Amino acid sequence: MTSKDKPSSFTSPDIFSLLIETDEREKRKRREELLAPLGVKEFFVGGSISIDKRTCKGIECKLCIKACPTNALFWRATGEIGITEELCIYCGACVLNCIVDNCIKITRRRENGETERFSTPRAFTMLENTINAKKRHERVRTIFPTTTEYLRLYKPQMT
Ligand code: SF4
Ligand code: SF4
Repeated sequence: MTSKDKPSSFTSPDIFSLLIETDEREKRKRREELLAPLGVKEFFVGGSISIDKRTCKGIECKLCIKACPTNALFWRATGEIGITEELCIYCGACVLNCIVDNCIKITRRRENGETERFSTPRAFTMLENTINAKKRHERVRTIFPTTTEYLRLYKPQMT
């Protein structure tokens, strides 16, 4: 097929990428505008959140709405929990407070490209423990890059 034969609706992949980029930029701008007045710091570069309407206890519960620090969750007149995605910072407080396992599902991406997924308080707690242990380890490594340096300070008799 020559370029003359191409259908008029043909669009090069570059234009698609450009449209996606523009869309992403607009979403980011909207997030910044909404989150700035709240003074909330973002730790994740992206993510997604969903609530399973079939298992959610709804009006009997609403614990996730109370736990959300940005008011990203709200009660709909239709009797369901609504999500304002632009306000969600993927902190996990809603999952931690949800009384139904796997009802709220969160996927979040860190700047270093790591992706985290959780949908139960147990999974969230385990993930946070792992992250905190990693942070502690990194802090110790900056103070004591080698075991010898640690021993020299705290167990000089062993060096
Ligand atoms: S992850 Fe955090 S910010 Fe997002 S809806 Fe849940 S509690 Fe709110
Ligand atoms: S905490 Fe869980 S069960 Fe309760 S309203 Fe929120 S999503 Fe539904």
